[in-house]
Amino acid sequence: MDVDATENPKLHVLFFPFMGHGHMIPMVDMAKLFAMRGVKTTIVTTPLNVPFISTTIERSKNSGFDIHIKVLNFPCVEAGLPEGCENLDSIPSSQGVNLDMIAKFFKAADMFEQPFEQLIQECKPDCLLVDMFFTWASDIANKYDIPRLMFNGCSFLSLCISDSVNLYEPQKKVKSGSEPFVFPNVPGDIKLTRDQMAVIFTQNEENELTRSVKKWREAELKSYGFIVNSFYELEAAYVDHYRNVIGRKAWHVGPVSLCNRAIEDKLDRGKKPSVDEQKCLSWLDSKQPKSVVFICFGTAVDFNAAQLTEIAFAIEATGQHFIWVVKKEKSNNEEDWLPEGFEERTEGKGLMIRGWAPQVLILDHEAVGAFMTHCGWNSTLECVSAGLPMVTWPVFAEQFYNEKLVTDVLKIGVGVGTKKWKEVVGDFVKRDAIEKAVKEIMVGEKAEEMRSRAKALGEMAKRAVEEGGSSFRDLNDLIQQLSSRRR
Ligand code: UDP
Repeated sequence: MDVDATENPKLHVLFFPFMGHGHMIPMVDMAKLFAMRGVKTTIVTTPLNVPFISTTIERSKNSGFDIHIKVLNFPCVEAGLPEGCENLDSIPSSQGVNLDMIAKFFKAADMFEQPFEQLIQECKPDCLLVDMFFTWASDIANKYDIPRLMFNGCSFLSLCISDSVNLYEPQKKVKSGSEPFVFPNVPGDIKLTRDQMAVIFTQNEENELTRSVKKWREAELKSYGFIVNSFYELEAAYVDHYRNVIGRKAWHVGPVSLCNRAIEDKLDRGKKPSVDEQKCLSWLDSKQPKSVVFICFGTAVDFNAAQLTEIAFAIEATGQHFIWVVKKEKSNNEEDWLPEGFEERTEGKGLMIRGWAPQVLILDHEAVGAFMTHCGWNSTLECVSAGLPMVTWPVFAEQFYNEKLVTDVLKIGVGVGTKKWKEVVGDFVKRDAIEKAVKEIMVGEKAEEMRSRAKALGEMAKRAVEEGGSSFRDLNDLIQQLSSRRR
């Protein structure tokens, strides 16, 4: 049952996503979900990020939902960033990670503390749903006695692993970076190597990065709990472990992307698509069901030219139909890496999208048979929701954990075999490995088995967000708890 809006006239939740598409997209979906239950929601963002969410917000408002935007100026220049650098996406990069710029971006994010506090005094919200990266938010929340929910865009498995890493540091107890180890006190014997973990966890001496990890942890402990874009049936062991063994509060409300039912809603997530949706849909309509591999590596991965060439050769060699998204702004000298005659030879077989793809719209099309993904959590969950298996290609962040969930726990994916965590550029993968993984996910008995497991999970995902489903109930529960603690 929906929480009755008359019983609960104006519960007000303030959302503050970190300024990166992988953080903003799911939080905007979440704000919509709360608004659909009669909650007043306000999304805080910066001027140049407004265009990424305004159409969605306007459409939700027109459907009668109480949803708003508040704008705070982003002190990019004060923090040493170029003017207009308000999204992780706009950090200048020339093939590789720009650590200095990223540090400045985080410094600017820290400077939000005061204006955000002023906003709290003005808006007097009942709850703050603030990204984990804004570590100062827990103290503000506690000062004003407002519950602060944490969001970090990850899975329950990742939360359990983070806890294990914090307590036991298993990655520091192995002899070499390539020696596999098991995360203590995490169900399912999840194995990884130190090479596959974020550098922030592998450093021995204290520095800016290790201090950040401590700050996230402290903010987590001071918060009201986590809100997770996941659903119980997907990772029940990890939900139970996080809540009952680690003993922290958390609510799963996903897959949040499923709140986008209309084509327009699916088109308006993040940036404007670089392809005409009708062209894209009619191209897909012309293909057999389950015959197309969708290839997209999220918003931050920045493969070099040699890697892109390798993908091109591999995908052509598989003989499969494909849609391949290549970030235009990231891959300079595009024509240098595309094998000669590639587009002519793959005409009709392949569609290349240079820039931004309407990912959820594509995944949901019946012609798509598998997704080659970097295992960003949003992409992983969007793929699960579409009931599709994956070729897993983790690059950095917590993507190696997500790969484990997909390949080892859920058994709906085949890895290309990346062995090393490498921020944005990734561990180089040869064409043969890519070709083999694509063939394994598309053809044969094993492929059929994975496909049917993925289909069943997709159905569970949809049930989870429907009335009476696990995520639907968890969201109701949370809203009720928040309502009852209002003064
Ligand atoms: N996305 C999209 N079109 C693109 C690239 C990405 O719609 O061309 C969306 C994708 O659907 C997902 C988000 O951007 O919701 C990427 O988040 P994810 O966690 O998968 O990866 P990240 O970009 O954070 O690494």
